[in-house]
Amino acid sequence: MSGDVLRDALERIDGRPYGHYRDLRGRDFELGPLCLRFDHVQGDPFAAPSRVRVDAPPGVAALPAPLRATADARRAAADLVQRQVRAALEGVRPGAGSGKSGLLEIARPGQEVLERTGARLDADGALRLRLSVGLPAAGRRILGRAAADLLCDRLRETLLSALRSLDPAALAAHVACVEDQIALRAALGPAGLVAFVAAGSHLPRRSGADDRPLAGALPLELGGVEAVELEAPHAGVLRGLGIPRGVTLIVGGGYHGKSTLLQALALGVYDHVPGDGRERCVADPALVGVRAEDGRSVRGVDLRPFIGALPLGRSTRAFDSDDASGSTSQAASIIEALEVGATGLLIDEDTAATNFMIRDARMRRLVPGAEEPITPFIDRARELWERRGVSSVLVVGGAGDYLDVADVVLRMRDYQPLDVTARAREVAAELPLGEAAPRPADPWPAAPPRVPLPGGLDPSHGRRPERVRGQSTRSIEFGREEIDVSALYQLADPAQVRAVGDALLELSRGLCDGRLALPQLLDAIDALIDHEGLDTICRGGHGDRARPRRFEIAAALDRLRSLRVAPGGD
Ligand code: ADP
Ligand code: MG
Repeated sequence: MSGDVLRDALERIDGRPYGHYRDLRGRDFELGPLCLRFDHVQGDPFAAPSRVRVDAPPGVAALPAPLRATADARRAAADLVQRQVRAALEGVRPGAGSGKSGLLEIARPGQEVLERTGARLDADGALRLRLSVGLPAAGRRILGRAAADLLCDRLRETLLSALRSLDPAALAAHVACVEDQIALRAALGPAGLVAFVAAGSHLPRRSGADDRPLAGALPLELGGVEAVELEAPHAGVLRGLGIPRGVTLIVGGGYHGKSTLLQALALGVYDHVPGDGRERCVADPALVGVRAEDGRSVRGVDLRPFIGALPLGRSTRAFDSDDASGSTSQAASIIEALEVGATGLLIDEDTAATNFMIRDARMRRLVPGAEEPITPFIDRARELWERRGVSSVLVVGGAGDYLDVADVVLRMRDYQPLDVTARAREVAAELPLGEAAPRPADPWPAAPPRVPLPGGLDPSHGRRPERVRGQSTRSIEFGREEIDVSALYQLADPAQVRAVGDALLELSRGLCDGRLALPQLLDAIDALIDHEGLDTICRGGHGDRARPRRFEIAAALDRLRSLRVAPGGD
């Protein structure tokens, strides 16, 4: 009978030292129609739990063919499966034992529907789940019978009942919701938009630490703007706020919802779960939010578009710093985002360096231009759009000079958008900037993309050849270094941060060869994930990984202090 081999194996090691659990590693065990395999076995009951993979062949879960017809549908369906399995496992009694004995868990997805290693659905309907299991022990002695009860009975029954009772209507709604977001995102370009927020969207979150919708928030209304219509395959024609390509300002008084809107656009690059409030708020997937981040490292970046020759003639053609200033860090982050293909920038005045954003009339008069290495962003915003096709969405509460460079000005009042473009033009004409008017800067110097050198990527730590791990959404330990990723606010989920760590490790394992430039390296990572799945870069059977964007992988690499680059050649 199925399950007996595993049961026998567990009962045979009952009472033995904990290390005997290792005998189970790498073997396939039948568990009813399921198949279980230990990818990693914990060394003791207090260590990080064991990693177990459970395969359900086609037909175990009722997943109708249309729900697995495309990679996007499979991602969405698997996402719901992971959530339902998690809920089901939460109901399982842990049982007695020391340390993590009896733990049964699948990683908790956040509000985004991402490709994840916790649950994967194949085109034929086969499902692969990756769980954390605390193998039971009393002290350091194996509780083999308890383990058999946990895995062969409770785990098996819970999974089978969860997979067999998936609600087809909920699954269809989940997949439809994601398909709509994908279609809306695809409709942005043809409609000349970088983002779209449907009427009725709930944008604010409960807190910085809780990404669920804020209760009682006011839904977005279109009374003050001309509605844009986009069509979604399931929801039909939706009316909403369109953020056009070009330069858009979001202005308004403090606390009126400017940053909330920008943040929603930043995360509109991902699909959201039904009921999130942002499931009809979509953005161009290549929008990158940048902020000032003093103290970060910068390696070989051509800062000349924003920062010209430094005092004493020091060049900024391949700029290095271990402790960049606010303005330098923001300039570097923009150049780096463009280097790997950003099509738009999101900037919030709250987190920008003032001297990077503007230079007003009095300063332009007091300090001669030749002495000021900084070309403020305001002097580049139009050129970025007109010559390089890069849009900007800028939250501006204080720097009215920006009215001169904007295509569209939206004013947030009581959390609702008003199109004040016409009024902004009048104001700009009434109060001309004169000598402080944004001036076309020197032509943008275009250095080819940098080439990371393999010697700068060392994942080793002490005697361990590879030690890399993501910590929440704030940092990644890479070898002996800690990469600060807290400024990357489009890392939506700690699971993405862990996968960014995996991607860096993958680069260090040979992809980064000193010849491929940064964009090519990211193409290679994306191709690996597209063709072979996230498991290819997230090795070791981890179920707590989610796919990051190329921009965040690049940004993490850019913040690695040991990074060394050669200038690109072409
Ligand atoms: P600003 O950037 O204009 O100063 P924020 O976007 O930070 O304003 O918003 C200020 C506060 O208002 C935040 O606490 C936010 O959660 C809340 N808020 C934003 N949008 C809404 C809304 N639609 N309904 C209710 N509260 C909101
Ligand atoms: Mg704000």
